[in-house]
Amino acid sequence: MRRWTNGAGKVLQAEYAGVEEGRVQLILANGSRAVVELQSLSVEDQAWVKGHPAPTTKTAVGLPPSVAALPPPEKRRMPDQVREPLLYTTIRVVREKPSDCLYESEHFQFKTTAKLGVALMKDICRAFESTYELVRLMPWGIQPRPEEGRDKFQAEFYETREQYLATGAPSWSAGVYSLKDKVFRIPFEELGISAQPGAGGAYYRKGAINNDTITHEITHQMMHGYVPYMPVWLVEGLAEYTSNLPYRGGVFQVSEDASAFAVPKGAAASSRRGLFNFMVQRQRPGWTGVQNLWVFTTDITTANPISRFTLTEDNLAPPVTSDVPPASRSADIASNYHSGHLLTYFLVRDRDGLPLKRYFDALRDEAAKWPPFWHALDNYKAALEKLRPAYVAYEKEMEAFLLKPGVTKLDDGRISYPTTLTPPADPPELPKPPLTPDRTDPKAVCAKHLGILLDGRSLDQLNEEVVRMFQNLGFPL
Ligand SMILES: [Zn+2]
Repeated sequence: MRRWTNGAGKVLQAEYAGVEEGRVQLILANGSRAVVELQSLSVEDQAWVKGHPAPTTKTAVGLPPSVAALPPPEKRRMPDQVREPLLYTTIRVVREKPSDCLYESEHFQFKTTAKLGVALMKDICRAFESTYELVRLMPWGIQPRPEEGRDKFQAEFYETREQYLATGAPSWSAGVYSLKDKVFRIPFEELGISAQPGAGGAYYRKGAINNDTITHEITHQMMHGYVPYMPVWLVEGLAEYTSNLPYRGGVFQVSEDASAFAVPKGAAASSRRGLFNFMVQRQRPGWTGVQNLWVFTTDITTANPISRFTLTEDNLAPPVTSDVPPASRSADIASNYHSGHLLTYFLVRDRDGLPLKRYFDALRDEAAKWPPFWHALDNYKAALEKLRPAYVAYEKEMEAFLLKPGVTKLDDGRISYPTTLTPPADPPELPKPPLTPDRTDPKAVCAKHLGILLDGRSLDQLNEEVVRMFQNLGFPL
């Protein structure tokens, strides 16, 4: 162990595990890894690192976490607590222009429309970095990585709610992670920032930071590589699980995860999440049952049972149909979130969390197969787009040709024409669409591995076990 001091004077005990491209790898007392920017350390530490380009101990030499072999599921444990790593919350000012500011912490880049300053940013970034650490230390083997091509996770803060909503954020949301843009967005009001700048021209802390919304959405962001391959009830259930953990003084009390359910009967719904405030005014959302929840695979508002996972011969996705009308009542949607949380809690604790850990191991394999396909699909779409003018021109020429005397379209689609005429030349051949991994249907892959969670049980049996667990906990459903 060595004593490390950062530029701001914060001290940390950690083992040195080497330096690469200006990033220092440390191993903390609890065995977890931390990466800090060399330049964020004190001058003395920077000099020391420069004199020690190699790790101090043999055991510390290792591959980056993403390719490090994981211990078997039986050996991975749920942490009791997850503490925010202090070195992660050092703020670097990239730029502070009047309406364009950029700040960085260890794993995040924060873009804001107004100057927030280092002290305020440090406060705000704690929930971000804590959630990074929380997701990383869960026993599911998730190694949060910034989205493709980025050094850090992106967050954007908006001065007004109007600016926030103009990005396309749902009207009821307090914050949102856009899987499409790979950005987390939140308005100032949820960060507890004053509506107007203070005397010095900077904004200041006025109220509480909505850490629950941050934790919920950042959980999505940390898992972005897994989300397309998971059912939405579990995606939301996990985000509800992490955001409902007691979080005090920068510490997630994971062992107190059941306390989230300790709400007196008949009490108002949790006021912590903007979502529930909006949707369920006075009524607590209820348990929908495993059988009902299981089919919310692709959309939290629309049931979509999936039982077929492979594509047909011609590589066309089978139509995904549903006889069940979308949940239109907001209370039903809130119940789906709440039930996702209940079932996720059950899975975290069920059989020592083994089915859930094995499920994530299968997901990791699945997720690794898809990026080349998505890439090929983009290329395919671009190639089609390039050929579009040729096809439009061909159709026009053909239309004109059909109007010529003696030209007739036969019933079987062929065309008869006088030998004196020449029909338009065929357009270039269309490229072949790429094949999906294992011929899996991209619309069905989110339900493909759910059998692992059942672990030999039927949905009815699983439901019974969930109900029994909550009965035993003293929170009957
Ligand atoms: Zn969510």
